[in-house]
Formats: sequence, C-alpha cells, structure tokens
Amino acid sequence: MRPYRGWKVALVGALLMALAGCAGYYDPQPSGELPPTTLPDNRLTARFFGVSTILLSDGRSAIMTDGFFSRPDFIKGITQPLQPDAGAIRWALGQGEVGGLEAVLVPHSHFDHALDSATVATATGATVVGSISTCRIVRAENLPQDRTRLVEGGEQFQFGSFKVGVFKAKHTPAPPFPIPALDDDVDPGFTVPARIFEYEQGGTYSFLVEHDGRTVLIHSSTNYVDGLYDGVRADVVFLGVALLARQGPAFAADYWEQVVKKTGAKLVIPVHWDDYTRPLDQRLKWFGWPDDLPADMAIVRDLADRSGVRVAFMPLFKPVDILAAAGIDPADRHTLPPPTVVRQPATCPF
Ligand SMILES: [Zn+2]
Repeated sequence: MRPYRGWKVALVGALLMALAGCAGYYDPQPSGELPPTTLPDNRLTARFFGVSTILLSDGRSAIMTDGFFSRPDFIKGITQPLQPDAGAIRWALGQGEVGGLEAVLVPHSHFDHALDSATVATATGATVVGSISTCRIVRAENLPQDRTRLVEGGEQFQFGSFKVGVFKAKHTPAPPFPIPALDDDVDPGFTVPARIFEYEQGGTYSFLVEHDGRTVLIHSSTNYVDGLYDGVRADVVFLGVALLARQGPAFAADYWEQVVKKTGAKLVIPVHWDDYTRPLDQRLKWFGWPDDLPADMAIVRDLADRSGVRVAFMPLFKPVDILAAAGIDPADRHTLPPPTVVRQPATCPF
C-alpha cells in the first residue's frame, strides 16, 4: 500500500478551505441550457448528473459514464476513507429515472469518476467497462468478474442498442502544487473503503457511442492525443473543460482542433466543470481554484463561434434531445470506425 500522504492532505485541505468561497454559482448563460424533452422509445436522449456522469438512453436500453453521485464534501473526502453513499446514489438514480443499465463506462479511476461505479452497476445490472485500475476498484467492491470488461483502448462493444468504441486518451494536465496528480495505477492490493489518494488515475479513456447511425463522443478529460480521432465522426461531443484556461491558448486551440473540429461535431456540451464536493440536491457551483469556469468557457465560446459549433449546457437529471439540439441532418448517418484491436474484449483478469 502507498503511504498515506498526510502532509498533502493537510495542505490541500487548508488551501481549498481558504479558496472555497471563490467558486460561483453555475450560470449557463450566455451559452444557454438545453431544454428538457420527452421522446418516444427508440429515440436517443441524454441526461447529466454532474462531473462527467452522463446517461444515454433510448427507453429500451441505457448506458452511463462514471455513475458518480456520492460527491463527498472536502473535509470528509480528505480526512476519512471514501465510501459510496448509498442514499445519494439511490436518490440521484431516482431523479434521473434510471432503471436498468447495460454498462457503466469509466474513463479513469480518480474518485470523482470511479467511486460509485460498482455500486451503480450492482443496482442497475450493468457491466463496468474500464482499465485494470478500475478493475481493482470494482472487484474490491465484489462486482462479479463476469460483469466487468477490461479495456486498453481500441475495443468495441455492443450494449443493448448502443455500440461503444473505446479510445486511449490522456488525462487533464496535472493541477498546480500542492494538489497531487495521482497519475499512477490503483494499487493491486486496493481495498474499500479507501483514501481519496488511493483512487489513482490508471490511464484515461474516451468513449464514442453509436446509436442508430448517430454518434456521441464522451471526452471527459481536458487533453488530446494527436490523430486519435482520425476518421471519427461525432454529432455531439461532451467535452471536458476542467482547467482548460490554465493550459494557455495554443493548447486550447489544439484541443478544439483534435476533439471537436476533427470529429465534425455540431454541438459541444461542457462537462467536468462543477464542484463535485457539493451534493446533487443543491444548486450546482462551478469549481473554484485551481479552475476558472468563466475563463474556460470564454475560450470554448470563442473557438466555437469561429468554427460554427453550438455550445450549450445540460440541465441536471432531465432528458435532452441532444441530436435535435445539434441540428443534425436526418440523412447524415455514420457509424463507428472499425475497432483497432482484434482480440476479444476480456473481463477483468481476477
Ligand atoms: Zn481525473
């Protein structure tokens, strides 16, 4: 086991408490918030639950990213081992009218993505898709091995009406001192409950989801790999914006080029901007230092204006017709590019 990083905990705690007042309440203007809708079965809707927890459903089958609902507060998060909050999870799943899930897709193993994935999968009958680090977390929580899928990038899966392509992406560049990057793998001896610092990144993935000839890219970390999306078309991109302004204008332009322009997306929905230490039954705030959502969004809106792409936020919990919001041409259908790995997707090896 990795030694407990007490000094970092103390520093981070002191700093974040001092700076907690800097975060503002979320205001979707001027980009706007997409309107809720109800659609007949077979039609795709999306729902948002904070950070990068997104539900895609067509009323017959559904998949979710992360499934992160516990959102432990700072003091609890840094002083006590983390535990999925069964009540908060049940409440949020109820708010989003989430029934059964085919899959929970985990982009990386930091706690604000992977903390509740096994609990959500257990509650919904889902299979968890993630890295070997994610395997260590969900197997420690006794999710059955046959309900896991280990990915390394390049795989493709069919989950109900959804085809899912997995891409090996890159995590957001490290936050400034004293916030630890936690960019190792989760320890093989991982047990729950675990400290926040034991939820190491373990590699980062993005997910391209095809539903009936339409494609949605869920790219939750603010970083890019040159050429990763060559040949990929996406109608809608859920785009991670955390810490974007800190990376400078050249990085932001490359990020936009590689993830949004290359995929031809017509609608960009920012994700990973809210303060995940606040419960979901309170009004969302954007994250304070080291992030700066107004600055991140000024950059995103400028890039979007120059490339004719719509930017809009999701409401919490409500179903949204993201394809209509993207204004896509009904005749413009596309599919996933072929998988880049030939081996069969495997379950976690333990
Ligand atoms: Zn992370």
